[in-house]
Amino acid sequence: MTNRIDRRRFIQTGAAAAGGMSLAAGTGRAEMTSNGKAWHEAARNVPIVEDADVVVCGGGPAGIAAAIAAARCGARTRLIEVNGCLGGMWTAGLLSWILDSDNKSGIMREILQRLEKHNAVARYGGSVGYDVEAMKLLLETMCVEAGVHVRLHTRIVAAGVHEGRLAIAVTESKSGRQAWRAKVFVDCTGDGDLAALAGCTFAEGRPGTGAVQPMSMMALLTGLVPAEVARFVRGLAEPLGENNPKARLLEEMQRAGVAPSYTQPTLFCIKDDLFCLATNHQYGVKANDAEGTTRATLCARAEIHTLVDALVRLGGCWKNMHIIATPEHIGVREARRIRGLYEVSADDLINGARHADAVCRVTFPVDVHSTDPTKDKGITREGVRARPYDIPYRSLIPVDVKGLLLAGRCISGDFVAHSSYRVTGNAAPMGEAAGTAAAMAAQSNRAPEHVPWDEISEAMKKHNSML
Ligand SMILES: Cc1cc2nc3c(=O)[nH]c(=O)nc-3n(C[C@H](O)[C@H](O)[C@H](O)COP(=O)(O)OP(=O)(O)OC[C@H]3O[C@@H](n4cnc5c(N)ncnc54)[C@H](O)[C@@H]3O)c2cc1C
Repeated sequence: MTNRIDRRRFIQTGAAAAGGMSLAAGTGRAEMTSNGKAWHEAARNVPIVEDADVVVCGGGPAGIAAAIAAARCGARTRLIEVNGCLGGMWTAGLLSWILDSDNKSGIMREILQRLEKHNAVARYGGSVGYDVEAMKLLLETMCVEAGVHVRLHTRIVAAGVHEGRLAIAVTESKSGRQAWRAKVFVDCTGDGDLAALAGCTFAEGRPGTGAVQPMSMMALLTGLVPAEVARFVRGLAEPLGENNPKARLLEEMQRAGVAPSYTQPTLFCIKDDLFCLATNHQYGVKANDAEGTTRATLCARAEIHTLVDALVRLGGCWKNMHIIATPEHIGVREARRIRGLYEVSADDLINGARHADAVCRVTFPVDVHSTDPTKDKGITREGVRARPYDIPYRSLIPVDVKGLLLAGRCISGDFVAHSSYRVTGNAAPMGEAAGTAAAMAAQSNRAPEHVPWDEISEAMKKHNSML
């Protein structure tokens, strides 16, 4: 299913429109439309508040890596994030668990090593638990050290395209409506907001139906003694030879008289007596549906409290458990997948695809959370047995708009492949590659697709000591 936002919504009338700018100067009256069913907004001039080499939109795992990498290459770099902290799902989403980072170098490895120095990570086989608060501080520190200009509390709401090239990102914040000009932009919003606003085509959900994977809300817990709950806990159970902690936790919840909306509830041991719970699925909600996302948020938070209260009432190892925090934003597994020069596909996973322009190698399997709760409330592999495969630089370059790169879960790929490459151990390396490429393109006045991969990977080696 291919979509495109109706860009006429963003094209205003006026002199500049004739020249092809989609955000124009001009004036007009704000008034009710004649049928009384809409409010006609007045055209207005939006101040251009900054000229940057690179503007990175969205400060999740992909966005922070993109911004740090671009700034380390010497590019004047602006990072714009709607939340009040950097890290996206890592921090605002309270994820607490990094998958597929083992074989990664560069900024991903540097983050883990720096967290380790502060005793803020614990390693469990190929997965890593980390302290969310330590992650927030580290990402801010790394951005400041690299010279990234960070703007929080600010949302990308429109894009200005001139002669097929993205020229302006428009934001809304407490400072009002502002425009940011850059030579190259990187869309790291996860949902592909900037690319869609700029007119890029995209796909969403399953082919044919567009059904999306459910949203889920994480929760941080404490009051548990690791040795007492080990057989229910991911990270603690496996070394004991207890291979199915999720099934045991589900049985325990059923014994407590509650049925979670996700039938593979997972309790992770982050570190010491800090735990993280993933136990709910909010089905059929699209990331761009604010009303649906609100309902999902209220429902998920209520379910977490109900399940935790029920386990506490069971007593035993659960009796002192309590919730430390739930995130302010529910976790969004998937939204737009922007159409790029290369689409990562299920066949790539099956064949273990190799590319000369490999940004990173994914080793995580297919992980599709049920799109239809009447059939299943768990996870499927969609019949695909994944072998390690490469993400090529071309899948970070959109086909429809110039001057723009993608990184993280909004890159170009199909439904099945996305469920595998989206995890954060891959999002960060994608961001690092996109940020480096954006800096090089901006500094040499080339389009990102004209910067050879060899040059980008050389620059990554030069600027990042962990490669
Ligand atoms: C419930 C759940 C559990 C998961 N479990 C794991 C796991 O255990 N381990 C793992 O590694 N991965 C896991 N994932 C996957 C992983 O979290 C995401 O795929 C990953 O965070 C993608 O990184 P990203 O930077 O592309 O997007 P995000 O982390 O979503 O970051 C996007 C950022 O952009 C910002 N943003 C969005 N729109 C705008 C806008 N218009 N203007 C300004 N800013 C904007 C957001 O606020 C956010 O900070 C899970 C995901 C979910 C939802």
